[in-house]
Amino acid sequence: MSATMIIGGERRAAASGAVDEITSPWDGRVVGTVPRAGPADADAAVAAAVEGAAVWRRTPAHERLRILLRAADLADERAPAVADLISAENGKSIREATVEASRCGDVIRLSAFEGAHLYGETLPLDAAPGTGFDKIGFTVRQPCGVVLAITPFNYPGLLAIHKIAPALAAGNAVVLKPAELTPLTALALTDCFLEAGLPGAVLSVVTGHGTEIGDALVADPRVRKVSFTGSTAVGERISRTAGVKKLSLELGASSPVVILPDADLELAASAVAAGGYANAGQVCISVQRVITHPAVTGDFLDALVPRVTAIRTGDPAGHDTTMGTLISETEAVRVQRMIDDAAASGARVLVGGSREGAVVEPTVVADVDPSSPLHQQELFGPAVAVSSADDWESAIAQANGTPYGLSAGIFTGDVAGAVRAIREIDAGNVHINWTPLWRADLMPYGGLKGSGIGKEGPRRAVAEMTEEKTVVLHGRPW
Ligand code: NAD
Repeated sequence: MSATMIIGGERRAAASGAVDEITSPWDGRVVGTVPRAGPADADAAVAAAVEGAAVWRRTPAHERLRILLRAADLADERAPAVADLISAENGKSIREATVEASRCGDVIRLSAFEGAHLYGETLPLDAAPGTGFDKIGFTVRQPCGVVLAITPFNYPGLLAIHKIAPALAAGNAVVLKPAELTPLTALALTDCFLEAGLPGAVLSVVTGHGTEIGDALVADPRVRKVSFTGSTAVGERISRTAGVKKLSLELGASSPVVILPDADLELAASAVAAGGYANAGQVCISVQRVITHPAVTGDFLDALVPRVTAIRTGDPAGHDTTMGTLISETEAVRVQRMIDDAAASGARVLVGGSREGAVVEPTVVADVDPSSPLHQQELFGPAVAVSSADDWESAIAQANGTPYGLSAGIFTGDVAGAVRAIREIDAGNVHINWTPLWRADLMPYGGLKGSGIGKEGPRRAVAEMTEEKTVVLHGRPW
C-alpha cells in the first residue's frame, strides 16, 4: 500500500519527495509506504487548518453531528480492514486489533453527541454588590480553532479517534501527526471523515517524524490547542515548546495493583494475567507492579503463573495468538534488558524472560525492589513486577512511590479499605477489585503527576477543546 498524506483535502507526497517504509514488527515485511513530511508540509497542514477552522466554526452543530454520525457508520463498516492494518503495522494480535477497530465508530458517535451539547451557564450578576437587574450575564463556548493532535503507536486507531472526533465535534479543525511507525491506520480512519462529507480543509494528516516536524507544529502560533498522547519525555518537551496554548498531555505510567490479605486471589490473578499482557504490555494503563501482602504473596503467584504461561504468543495475524509482538525488536531488547537487570539485582523470574525477534515472552518477576528501575521507570512490555508490603501505609507508599499517577487497582473484600484506597492512591483512575487496565471510552481518563495534564473521554475532551467566553448584556438601571 502506497499511501499519501492528506493536507487540506488533497492527497500529497512530501514536498521533499521523501518516503518511509512501514514494516511489520513480526516478520519485517513492508506493509506500506507513507510520505516523510518535512517543515514545509507541516506548515501547509497548519495553513489548511486555519482555513478549515474558519469554515467549521460557522457550520451549525446539527450539520457537524450529521457528518460525524456518517463517519461513525463508515468506521464501523471498515472495522475489519482497519483491524488488519492495525495488526500489520503495530504487531498486536488480530483479536486485540479487532476490538480496537470496533470501538472507533462508537467514540465518534459519543463525541458527535457531545458536540451538540455545548451548553453555557447563566451568571447571577445581581449578586455582585452595586449590580442590579439591569445586566444579564452568561457564558458561551466556541471552538479553539486549530487543534494539533499527536498520537503514539500503541493504539494507532483508537487514540487518534479520541482526539479527532471530539475536536471536530466541538467545531475545530485538526492537524493529526500520527506515530511514525503506525500512520496507515490513522490515514484509513481519516478517509471515513472525508467521505462522510467533512470539508477537506478541516482535517489534515501529516505523516512524519516527531523529531523532525514536532517542534515546528507544537510551536506554531496558529495552533491553539495541542492534544498529545505519548511518552512523558516528549510531553515535557512539548510543554516547554508550546508557548501560550491549551495543552492536554496523556503520558507514561507505571501502574500499580495492591492486593490486600482479604482479596479474592483467583479474581486478582485472572485480572492481572489480562491486565499485564494486553497489547504485549504496551498500554499506558498496563499492570506493571503488583504489591501484595506477604500473607498472600505465595498463593497469588501460584494462581498467576499458570495463567501467564497460558498466554499464546505468535503471528499476530493468527486467530489463536493472544499476544503479538512489541512495536520493534529494539523495544523488545530494551524490555528484556530491564527484566535481566532486575534478575541480576536479586529479583526472581518465575516465568518468561526470553525474547525472539520483537516477541518478549510473558514474564512474571517476583521479589522486585520497589526502588529499582522495573518499578520506577515505565516498562511498556509484557512483564509484571511483584513486590511485598507488610501493612497499609507501606502498600500505599509503594503504589504512590513513582513519578507517575495514571491508573491503579486494589483488590480487597473490605469496603473500608476500598474507600481509603480511593482517597489515598494518587492516580487519575482507581479501580476497586480490578486492575488499572480498564477503560470505557466515555469515562474521564487522564493522569496525575508525571502521567499528564487534562482528561480525555468525549465529554471532557470536547470541553477541553472549546474556549469559554463570558458575555454581559448591559441594560439601563431601572
Ligand atoms: P513517543 O512519545 O515516542 O511518541 C508519541 C508521538 O509524539 C509520536 O507521534 C511521535 O512522532 C511524536 N513526537 C516525538 N517527538 C516529538 C516532538 N519533539 N514534538 C512533538 N511530537 C513528537 O511515544 P510512543 O513511543 O509512540 O508511545 C508510547 C508512550 O505513550 C508510552 O510512554 C505510553 O505510556 C504513552 N501513552 C500514554 C497514554 C495515556 O493515555 N496516558 C496512552 C497511550 C500511550
